[in-house]
Amino acid sequence: MISVIIPIYNEKDSIDPLQRDIERVMKGLEQEYEILFVDDGSTDGSTELIREKETSSPAIRAIFFRKNFGKSATLNAGFQASRGEIIFTMDGDLQDDPEEIPRFLAKLDEGYDLVTGWKVKRKDPLEKRLPSKLFNAITSRMSGLNLRDYNCGFKCYRREVIKEIRLYGELHRFIPSWPTRRVSGWRRSR
Ligand code: UDP
Ligand code: MG
Repeated sequence: MISVIIPIYNEKDSIDPLQRDIERVMKGLEQEYEILFVDDGSTDGSTELIREKETSSPAIRAIFFRKNFGKSATLNAGFQASRGEIIFTMDGDLQDDPEEIPRFLAKLDEGYDLVTGWKVKRKDPLEKRLPSKLFNAITSRMSGLNLRDYNCGFKCYRREVIKEIRLYGELHRFIPSWPTRRVSGWRRSR
């Protein structure tokens, strides 16, 4: 089974299209899957929408935080609740395209334990892109990994790998630099 963990903080309008896209891809692959929404204290109606989905579809599960704890906390909770042998994380704002899922899986098949996305055409303002460039350069220097984009929310793991990861604070930004793993940089298109 594949688990897809999606942190949600006020993403009401994205939830439906994202779910539909993921389901289409998984059906195409004839792959058993679960979508695990982790609601990080949303206040825009995302919570109610996810509750509705959780009760109407067996492939959808959800975790609800009473207040906003940040993305690392959502991923940590998602990892612990997930049941799949393969685990994806994706952002819930439609910046990650589920059509890329088969390409991540192909990389895992080559023997990698963790495959990480890469925002090729970044749709964010300069004040986000500049610090991000600096962060990637410094983290590459310190970890010796040399990835273009540590911080991309679109990632894929074998279950053995997530057993070793405990996330809090801003630690989700450093996941690819965890030691002793083979990491493959992959691009995402949206
Ligand atoms: N997110 C979250 N808690 C937060 C902030 C963001 O769960 O406190 C979720 C958000 O809903 C989205 C993902 O984390 O699904 C990435 O957030 P964002 O788009 O703000 O990050 P960026 O694209 O700038 O890395
Ligand atoms: Mg985003």
